[in-house]
This record gives sequence, structure tokens and C-alpha cells, in this order.
Amino acid sequence: MLGLHFDTPHGTPLRILCLGAHCDDIEIGCGGTLLRLLEERPDASVHWVVFSSTPERKKEALGGAELFLAGVREKHVTIHDFRDSCFPYVSLDIKDAFERLKREVAPDVIFTHFRQDLHQDHAFISQLTWNTFRNHLILEFEIPKYDGDFGTPNFFVPLEGRHCERKIRFILDTFVSQVGHQWFSADVFMSALRLRGVESNAPERCAEAFYCRKVVFTPMSAARPAARAEKSAPIPLDDPSKAA
Ligand SMILES: [Zn+2]
Repeated sequence: MLGLHFDTPHGTPLRILCLGAHCDDIEIGCGGTLLRLLEERPDASVHWVVFSSTPERKKEALGGAELFLAGVREKHVTIHDFRDSCFPYVSLDIKDAFERLKREVAPDVIFTHFRQDLHQDHAFISQLTWNTFRNHLILEFEIPKYDGDFGTPNFFVPLEGRHCERKIRFILDTFVSQVGHQWFSADVFMSALRLRGVESNAPERCAEAFYCRKVVFTPMSAARPAARAEKSAPIPLDDPSKAA
């Protein structure tokens, strides 16, 4: 199958923005993809934003970001402390945080929550992502949960075994406050990776999956300066006032 690559114009460093409602969402949703991507694009810069935390969970979130972003030269990690499970009720404050973020970052690709995620905080972050970033590639990740909202994603990132192993180990080692939750276990995370690996015919049997609602096809020549300089003038539109 013809694949896609995260090519940037003129080979400029890839700029990645990760948005998670809770402290472990980014790691669970796209941790393997980040490990692979940062290996392939060591020049990438990453903005990592978590919207809710407690002092205990903030420490875990910082630890998670440090593990997943090890070796990244330019990284910005922000952990907000909006109240868990109440995002729709503190919407203006979170909206303000998004507006500030928009002025600070110009991402090439954004990882955020699935629009139809049944956790209200996740869905709210997804909605604000689309409200705020209007001309960007957005990939929505999935989070296993009691509510059961796994669907049919359409964008797959095959992963090697070592990416999966590191993803799961980093999560389990970092978020110790979550140990005991039924959904927080290596077999749950591995099941999701295997399922999406089957659906994408992944060479090493595992993949992370995303919902990609909009992709714009840009011809390679459009990214080259010479080609842009030779670009033809816009097609003139008829001026109705000059009609015979
Ligand atoms: Zn969450």
C-alpha cells in the first residue's frame, strides 16, 4: 500500500503538538507513534500539553514526558491543573489556554483526542483542538475505557516490537497512581496495539490508530522555492460590471 510520510517543506524540523486531557492520555493514545516518529525525525520539536492534574499526577506527567521525549532537543511541556471530569464546566478558562497556545506554536501535526470519545474531558479537548487550529493536520487518538468507544479509525502507524515494549513499560513505570484500575494494565495496552496491527497488516503485528478527518494533498513541487516562484498568476475572474 502506498504510504504517507510526515515530510515538511524544505526539510525543516517537524513540529509536533500533543494535547491530552489527563496526565497519561498522550502516552496511552500516541506514545508508540511518538517513539517511532522522534527516532525517525531527531530534529523534531515537541509541545506537550496536559490539561488536568493534581500535584501527585503532575509529577507523573512530567516523568512520562521526560521518558517519551528523551533526546528531543526542543521540547516544551505544560501541565495545567484544570479539574478532572469538569472540563465543560470550566470551558472559558480552558478556551483561554488554547488561545494562548495558538499564539505560541505553529505545529505541522497535532495529536489530540477522538472527537467521539465518550469521556467528556476528552471530547472537549478534541472540540477545542479543531476550533483553535484551523489549517493543520490533526490526528485523533483513542483511549480504552469502560464506556466502550473504540470505533473504526482510518490512520495507522505500524510499530516495531521495541516501540510497543517501551511504550507499555514507560506507562506502567510512570503512572503508579493508576495501578489498580482495571483498564491500566499491559495486556489492555497490548490488545489495542495488536488489534490495530491486524487491521493495518503491520509488519511486526502492532500499530497505533488514529482518526484523520481531513488531509490536504500538496504536490511535491509546491514545496520547492523555485516552483513557487514560477507559479502562474491566478486565473482572472470575469468582472460582471464590464459585461457587454
Ligand atoms: Zn483521559
